[in-house]
Amino acid sequence: MKVGCIGLGIMGGPMALNLLKAGHEVHVWARRPEATEAFKDAGAQVDTSPAKLARQVDVVLTNVSDTRDVEQVLVGNNGVIEGAQPGLVVVDHSTISPTATRKLATALADRDVDMLDAPVSGGQQGAKEGSLTIMVGGKVDVLERVRPVLEVVGKCITHVGDHGAGQITKACNQLIVAQTMTAVSEAIRLAEAAGVDPKAMREALLGGLGYSRVLEVHGQRMINRSYPPGFKTRLHAKDMGIVLQTAADLGLPLPGTAQAAQWINAAVGQGYGEDDSAVIAEVLRRLTPPPKEAGDH
Ligand code: NAP
Repeated sequence: MKVGCIGLGIMGGPMALNLLKAGHEVHVWARRPEATEAFKDAGAQVDTSPAKLARQVDVVLTNVSDTRDVEQVLVGNNGVIEGAQPGLVVVDHSTISPTATRKLATALADRDVDMLDAPVSGGQQGAKEGSLTIMVGGKVDVLERVRPVLEVVGKCITHVGDHGAGQITKACNQLIVAQTMTAVSEAIRLAEAAGVDPKAMREALLGGLGYSRVLEVHGQRMINRSYPPGFKTRLHAKDMGIVLQTAADLGLPLPGTAQAAQWINAAVGQGYGEDDSAVIAEVLRRLTPPPKEAGDH
């Protein structure tokens, strides 16, 4: 198929490269032209606007940051909607507001363009391996039309409902991940403070009920105190905003989520916005520094 990729960062970049490797004709657009060079070298065609890209492809995949960014590239000036031919499918892999997603799907449908919200889980590693989990909202027959493209990007593709249902499912994922992340950082801090090697603690728990992929992957980052993204803390903060706004719209209390969101806010406030969000462990460490040795000031 002819596939257009908009957003060539941590997630969108590896997806575009995998689509090229799988033999699809790939078009790319980026707001910073220099960001397209590696993709041009790998065989992608570079377009000069989302509208021009849309004119030439069967499917557009978007992997940009936030709700307003998706709005900008889809329905903004020179956006996809301006170049879209009837029958084009837009697959939005970004994590954004479910409410805005439904509005975008309606605006595109008015031009005979189908949209799927298809946020992903699995991080940078999953994007590189083409093994992402994809939660899809929209029409089943549209999903079937683009399945060959999505199967390059992910391994576990689940249709969860109509427009917006994919984003709601992703919100559920993000609230679980954030709360698990705070639990893992607390466990590591407790072990350290009590004089137990956190590496040994993590190793022991990986075989038990406390196992999670967060303990495995993010726990390791917290122990190494090394936080290259991964998933940027500022994007995790954005996701917690989506979860809490959705809950507020429904009049729903999510106290655990609200608390986890504050750790992430604190990390952004302490200047960790571009680091992986496992960095919340450092925020906790700052609250409970190791006891001073005699003679320390
Ligand atoms: P990223 O590395 O920051 O990449 C975002 C890309 O989108 C960049 O290429 C950026 O361009 C582009 N972009 C942002 N706003 C734009 C706009 N208004 N117009 C044109 N291009 C724009 O972020 P990422 O980690 O790939 O995340 C992308 C999306 O996937 C987010 O919604 C995120 O929440 C979600 N997600 C991420 C992960 C993860 O582990 N990283 C996992 C699941 C879902 P510039 O380079 O010019 O800024």
